[in-house]
Amino acid sequence: MSWPGGSAAAAAVRAAALTAVLCPADPGEPVAVADVVQVLREHGEPGPIELTDADVTQMRAVAADLHAVFAAPSTAVAARRLNLLLRAHAGPPRLSGHDGTAWHIHVDASDRAPWAEWLATSSAMALATLLADRQARPGGLCAAADCRRPFADLGRGARRRYCSATCASRARVAAYRRRSRAVYPKV
Ligand SMILES: [Zn+2]
Repeated sequence: MSWPGGSAAAAAVRAAALTAVLCPADPGEPVAVADVVQVLREHGEPGPIELTDADVTQMRAVAADLHAVFAAPSTAVAARRLNLLLRAHAGPPRLSGHDGTAWHIHVDASDRAPWAEWLATSSAMALATLLADRQARPGGLCAAADCRRPFADLGRGARRRYCSATCASRARVAAYRRRSRAVYPKV
C-alpha cells in the first residue's frame, strides 16, 4: 500500500478515483470488489490485492467522508472535513518502505492496517498536503450535471470545474446549443 511515485498528487488522484467507484450516484447500488481492485491496480498498487466484500463495505463508509471533502464549498470547510478524517483515523507519522517501495510517510497504524484505514489515512494526508501546497480546495465534483464525479485539482491556475476533458467539451457543446436555441427559437 504505497503512494505511487511517493507523490501526494498521485495519491490525491487515486483518492478521487476510489471515491468515485466507492460512492455510486445511487448509494443503494452494490460496489463490486473487482471494480475496486481494478482502480487500485490502475493507480499502481503493487503485489497481489486481497480485498473482501467486508473491506469494500468499510471502505464505502470512509469514501462517503472523502466525498464530502471533494464536495466542500470552500477551502476552510475542506480543511475542517480533512481534520475530522485525520482525527478519526490517523496515528503518528511513520516511515514505511514496505514491499520494496521508496521510503514514504504513512499515518495508518501499520503496513497491515485494514484497507479502510489505509484509504482514510493515505487519502486524507494526500488531500491535506495538496490543500496546504495550493492554499485551495484539493479537488471538487464535476460541474457536468449528469456526471458529478470527484476529481483532484492539481492545477496552479483557475479552479478546475470538470473531471475530464470529455465532460468539459460536452458542457461547452451543451452551452453552445442552449445559446443557439435562444437566438433561433424553434417555431
Ligand atoms: Zn465529469
